Amino acid sequence: MGVHPTYAGDRVQVLDTTLRDGAQGASVSFTLKDKIAIALKLDELGVDYIEGGWPYSNPKDYEFFRSIKEYGLRAKVAAFGSTRRKGVRPDKDENLNSIVKADVQAAVIFGKSWTLHVREVLGTTWEENLAMISESVEYLKSHGMEVVYDAEHFFQGYQEDPEMALASIEAAWRAGASVIALADTNGGTPPSEIYRIVQEVKRRFPAMPLGAHMHNDIGCAVANTLMAVAAGARHVQGTINGIGERTGNADLTAVLPTLELKMGFKVLREEPPQIKFGRLREVSRLVYEVLNVQPNPYQPYVGDFAFAHKGGVHADAVMKVPRAYEHIDPELVGNRRVIVVSEMAGGASLALRLSELGISAEKRDPRLKAALEEIKRLEREGYSFDVGPASAELIVLKHLGLYREMFKLKEWRVITGPTSASYAVVKVAIGGIDYVEGAEGVGPVHAVDMALRKALAKAFPDLQRVALRDYKVILPTLVKNTESVVRVTVEFSDGSRVWRTVGVSTNVVEASVKALADGLDYYLQVASLAVAKI
Ligand SMILES: [Zn+2]
Repeated sequence: MGVHPTYAGDRVQVLDTTLRDGAQGASVSFTLKDKIAIALKLDELGVDYIEGGWPYSNPKDYEFFRSIKEYGLRAKVAAFGSTRRKGVRPDKDENLNSIVKADVQAAVIFGKSWTLHVREVLGTTWEENLAMISESVEYLKSHGMEVVYDAEHFFQGYQEDPEMALASIEAAWRAGASVIALADTNGGTPPSEIYRIVQEVKRRFPAMPLGAHMHNDIGCAVANTLMAVAAGARHVQGTINGIGERTGNADLTAVLPTLELKMGFKVLREEPPQIKFGRLREVSRLVYEVLNVQPNPYQPYVGDFAFAHKGGVHADAVMKVPRAYEHIDPELVGNRRVIVVSEMAGGASLALRLSELGISAEKRDPRLKAALEEIKRLEREGYSFDVGPASAELIVLKHLGLYREMFKLKEWRVITGPTSASYAVVKVAIGGIDYVEGAEGVGPVHAVDMALRKALAKAFPDLQRVALRDYKVILPTLVKNTESVVRVTVEFSDGSRVWRTVGVSTNVVEASVKALADGLDYYLQVASLAVAKI
């Protein structure tokens, strides 16, 4: 790994603002329970500060600050707010007093560095703005708090009037702020400018502890954070998964491993990288889960596709020398290598997927070739096994003679009416005996799922562990220029393993039924393979 020697070992502080700036994202809303769960995970990850909320604008945040004390976090908990209002004494300012009332170790306050904001938004003079900054920092410090100062719109302010922008952060620093975080509040500054400006600030105030607070409006929040650190900042602010206002904040799941694994800085509480970064994916998943948002599969480091190899040549090479196509070992960040079975896949990809099931097969095995032929044929008919690899594995098991027929779905019928209730009847054969069961569900797919499980429950009681986690319909795709088909993918989990299946048909319910039946079948096949190995 190429690590820049200049940075070796320098410690960079991390302030997580998922619960504050992240909570300002559209459609983000955390309950108290969510906030506590996330804070505990962040503490385990080892961040230095957890910014828990903005009590002045959201009085509900007091509950969080009160409750989180009981957990004795190792991270410092911080409350957010602004500098005092113009013409008001700090001890009479409700905003500052709301931070004091939060009774936490650290305060993060933002103030103005841009003349436009001072004159036209605040409607005041630079003298008053500088007094607002220093008196606010002093006031909070006099209450025993550490103060992190966020210089709002610093980069735009600096571009238009560098002397005043510098005067504003100098005021905060002289008043005792422990960090001056330079914020690209509009998120529109490119990395080259961030680097130049942070370097110039560093040159002017070599001893000033600088930080970075970047927004992602031009897709550069992570890059800008890294550039600020390269130019001398030693404190970064960001959110998990980059959630936040508009296009969000710097995504800490990318910033943190890059700082340490690629640039040679030290982040998070001391622990071997594989332990601390090994928790990244978990933290990322928790935030998605709480927000009820589908994880972004393309997310660097922690996404499902971050280490997915599809091309046959790549997959083959990655098995021999992972470094050939992977920038780090996926396990270092709690992720895993995925070999995608698809039209492009070769025997090597299939062999690797099978090895995950504990089956060893030679990549040139003619039975694998035959399975691959079938997979390719089905992909021409509209299947896409990238999104439903478990269905492809079932095909391979059949070709290898490792498939045992557990049940056969012989027939199904669905009745729907004008309400959301649907009724389904299924006929399955288990060991040569037919079973017919009916069930009611919310929508036709749910009804079939219920009926199918009912029919299988006696013979396969373990199936109750299998939960349907996600269901997606991809609307008509034209195949062979004549027919359009619907593709359905279903995600299942038994609590430890997650698998996805795919079904294709001209009829959406039929496509769903295929994917459902494959998913339950897959669970039973994997269970029987495990037994066979014992
Ligand atoms: Zn922000």
